[in-house]
Amino acid sequence: MKRRDLLKLAGLSAVVAGGVPGFLNKEVKAREYTPPPGALTAKRWGMAIDIRKCWEHPECRDCIKACHHIHNVPEIPEKKKEIKWIWKDEFEHAFPDQPNEFNDVLLQGKPFLLLCNHCEHPPCVRVCPTEATFKREDGIVMMDYHRCIGCRFCMAACPFGARSFNWVDPRPYIREFNPEFPTRMKGVVEKCLFCYERLEKGQIPACVEACKHKALIFGDLEDENSEISRVLRSRFSIRRKAELGTGPSVFYLIG
Ligand code: SF4
Ligand code: SF4
Repeated sequence: MKRRDLLKLAGLSAVVAGGVPGFLNKEVKAREYTPPPGALTAKRWGMAIDIRKCWEHPECRDCIKACHHIHNVPEIPEKKKEIKWIWKDEFEHAFPDQPNEFNDVLLQGKPFLLLCNHCEHPPCVRVCPTEATFKREDGIVMMDYHRCIGCRFCMAACPFGARSFNWVDPRPYIREFNPEFPTRMKGVVEKCLFCYERLEKGQIPACVEACKHKALIFGDLEDENSEISRVLRSRFSIRRKAELGTGPSVFYLIG
């Protein structure tokens, strides 16, 4: 039996033996992380998106292109099988819960850049039976593709639609292969990983670097002197479905 099949069996047995309720209540404990020398580090990584700057350039997709190229995200034409790490969607889909109808008038139909929120209390991590997805102590919600058994509990648990499932082998759909980043296989889940592999090399995330309009601010939410902390103190921001209590680390500057 292959390692992945064993994990699948172990994971499913855990669900059957433990029962779903206990399993869902599992505390999310952040995993220790020792960065290599020269890495960018933070107590809690976060991103602020100056969405007004994005709106000034409605056709711009530089961040999406950079991310998807660097991470070998396939371009699968069939919508149901699509893989996305960072994408745009309209305000009313991204923020169905925003109660202020006056805000809504201004924001209606406007595109918002969406990605995994690297939640402080990630429900996706809580439900994963194999710990294929886990939270690191710097706040990044990671994926270990080798442990993923494709049960898709994480997709059901994520209220933000931030995860994609590989229904088919993604490799034939990669437009321009980047040998520096691992490709995935059929049957695993994937998502944005806040460019952990670039942070290790002292580089900022690819989307942030690619945005020539400086609409993306990435930094340490727990460092009061970081640019992201300063901007969040001075501008009005919203987070997706904040009332659910997952604690998104992605903020949208709208004021
Ligand atoms: S946005 Fe979804 S996938 Fe990302 S950490 Fe939160 S619950 Fe998990
Ligand atoms: S599909 Fe999601 S919940 Fe299931 S093993 Fe993979 S990462 Fe974990």
